[in-house]
Amino acid sequence: MIVLVINAGSSSVKYQVFNAETKEVLAKGLVERIGMSGAILTHKPTDRKEVRLSGEILDHKMAIEYVVSILLSKNHGVIKDKSEIDAVGHRVVHGGEAFSSSVLISEEVMAEIRACIDYAPLHNPPNLKGINAVKSLLPDVPQVAVFDTAFHQKMPKYAFLYGLPYTLYRRHGIRRYGFHGTSHRFVSNRAAEIMGQPLENLKLITAHLGNGASISAIQNGRSVDTSMGFTPLEGLLMGTRCGDMDPAIILQIMHKEELTVNDANILMNKHSGLQGISGISSDMREIEEEYEESSRAKLAHDMFTYRLKKYIGAYAAAMGGVDGIVFTGGIGENSEMVRKHALEGLDYMGIELDEAKNKERLKEERDISAKNSQVRIMVIPTNEELVIALDTKRIVDESN
Ligand code: ADP
Repeated sequence: MIVLVINAGSSSVKYQVFNAETKEVLAKGLVERIGMSGAILTHKPTDRKEVRLSGEILDHKMAIEYVVSILLSKNHGVIKDKSEIDAVGHRVVHGGEAFSSSVLISEEVMAEIRACIDYAPLHNPPNLKGINAVKSLLPDVPQVAVFDTAFHQKMPKYAFLYGLPYTLYRRHGIRRYGFHGTSHRFVSNRAAEIMGQPLENLKLITAHLGNGASISAIQNGRSVDTSMGFTPLEGLLMGTRCGDMDPAIILQIMHKEELTVNDANILMNKHSGLQGISGISSDMREIEEEYEESSRAKLAHDMFTYRLKKYIGAYAAAMGGVDGIVFTGGIGENSEMVRKHALEGLDYMGIELDEAKNKERLKEERDISAKNSQVRIMVIPTNEELVIALDTKRIVDESN
């Protein structure tokens, strides 16, 4: 089964084409600057070199039209006819309380995604544009939605509610939803395979550390708590997001600095985190390059790893122990310094890193725990696109 995986953002569309039986990627690419001047399509067939094309791409429908035409093209294509695309899988950011797993897209499902726009105003609208574009270009092809929030939908109520009046949950859906669910699901499954134990018997902590970062407690295969909340702003310190703080701070700053709601939103989401503390960069590589020279870069790094360590302790307490810790995402997969600092001093919990293995610069999954560590520590590159392709295949197979 050939599955086209689409991740539609506000001005971009990322795609990958899979043979879902063999899990092989046939091609991947990205359309950027949709609706702006000088849109660019970067396309990479797995067995040939990358091509870059520029043109006017006014909307998501045109973007996906471009994608389909390059997939069919003589020199850069990977299929001969549109009809070879058996199914399309979409990353959808917010499924609210309606979806705890991936679903076949119908009119009703689209209405539910639309109903969640209030929760994810920047993400769900372009996700819907992607679905509509495929609907008009490939009307007979089944489409599946895979939600970032779905994996966290089975959290217990005492973990997902905030200490606000309960009526606000009822009236406005104010609760923790959690994000990066597809990634936490993927790496927890892989961790169980690496550990050679059923996921149902394990207590895992998975840390997805990229520009956005979240950490999850996964008990018996279920996400029982996660650090991102009502929006992806809560929890860990991130590239440009502040993560946890006293909510009264923002009221005080809005008053003192005469900020509008929009200003405050931008402050917390775009000018905080590693960027705001260091004044240097939101990029962990640059923070680490300056760690010895700049006290502010060091502070940003120390805050990042301190908060990570606090969450590891909290989630071990929440689950009554931990069998495995997984690092993933650009930082989790690549920063030996973040992993080292976050786990330092946790040997009393049975968490011991093998320093030499931690330093190895490999692109593959690996166990970096010391021989005597009671807790397995793993680096597992995430693969959200593969999860989307496999969910799409399973759901389409089941519907036939
Ligand atoms: P996104 O959340 O946008 O998908 P990624 O998962 O690609 O982001 O992660 C980006 C982050 O990973 C950046 O902060 C980048 O600096 C960091 N990163 C990538 N490689 C390294 C490395 N070798 N050492 C430290 N940080 C790294």
